[in-house]
Amino acid sequence: MNTHIVLTKRPAGWVDESCFAVQDCAEPVCGPGDVLLESIYLSTDPYLRGRMNAGPSYAPGFEIGRAIVSRVVARVIGSNNSRFNTGDIVWGFLDWALRSVALRGEGLHKIDPSLGRISHSLSVLGMPGLTAWVGAIEIGKPAPGDTAYISSAAGAVGQLAGQFAKRAGARVVGSAGSDDKVAFLLDRCGFDAAFNYKTLAIEQGLREQCPQGIDLYFDNVGGTTLEAALRHANVAARFPVCGMISAYNEVGDAGIKGLQALLSKRIAMTGFIIYDHVHKLAAYQARVAPWLRSGELVFQEDIVPGIERAPAALIGMMKGETIGKRLVQVAAE
Ligand code: NDP
Repeated sequence: MNTHIVLTKRPAGWVDESCFAVQDCAEPVCGPGDVLLESIYLSTDPYLRGRMNAGPSYAPGFEIGRAIVSRVVARVIGSNNSRFNTGDIVWGFLDWALRSVALRGEGLHKIDPSLGRISHSLSVLGMPGLTAWVGAIEIGKPAPGDTAYISSAAGAVGQLAGQFAKRAGARVVGSAGSDDKVAFLLDRCGFDAAFNYKTLAIEQGLREQCPQGIDLYFDNVGGTTLEAALRHANVAARFPVCGMISAYNEVGDAGIKGLQALLSKRIAMTGFIIYDHVHKLAAYQARVAPWLRSGELVFQEDIVPGIERAPAALIGMMKGETIGKRLVQVAAE
């Protein structure tokens, strides 16, 4: 019997495990042209929270009673499609299920195992990595002498955004929600400074760690963190707006104070969605995979075993219990 994870109700405020059910379900049927898949890794992503809401977002909402869908690394276990062979490792937007079918093989991407671990196609060599690159380098435009501040810095995107800005010559400062995360940023990722925003107010952390002001703020968090960054920004600062996770589990919109700084300091605040940049993925992978192999670039994954633990893993990621990219492993590689 197959198993999948469905959304049972829409969360109001913080999502909890009562919004999900682990259910037995039918085995998928592999029709003409289709590809039968065994899931290996499920990606947990903050934007999945937005897809649980009823209203429109940049990705379509999940339906009640239907499986959660995210990027998944899977093994081809049956194929009626000449582009895929049994044993191929692929990624695609697939159900949170032990086994699924890709109709006509659409949306599947073969993974080149020579680039890195297969899980990396959901993390450092996949969309989180490209997100960090586009935000930190293409929009943030770090230069030697700049101070770059990264929020949620020990997360999947944040740890890379900081390392990319550092490679471009910036002085890099991160904030994260535990002392272990701060130690990871300083000792493993080469950040110049980092602070725990749960024990030191953002305002004070930025005053102490960014004495020359902020030239690049990579925003993963929004809310009062963004407000503090606006206060500490230098003239002509760049603010790539990647995410606003502080608001994802809140009801309503608390707004952002201090936006006059955009005008007075001529700040370029640029929102971006990685879907608009997918065509850059192969070039990004070719650039970054050698850094990963040589150890110049550090990347941490946090892998939780068992499909039944996927809802708790997703919620825990949003609550800050992870260092790095959280994946759920549901089958052996
Ligand atoms: P992370 O690995 O960074 O995980 C989320 C982390 O957010 C948590 O671990 C927690 O860490 C932190 N967090 C949660 N609530 C708060 C809060 N109220 N204040 C400060 N930090 C908080 O996730 P990702 O790296 O996958 O994503 C990071 C951001 O990038 C998200 O906002 C996401 O939506 C966005 N994103 C945007 C994309 C785009 O196309 N624009 C693509 C991919 C991601 P801590 O312990 O530090 O609090």
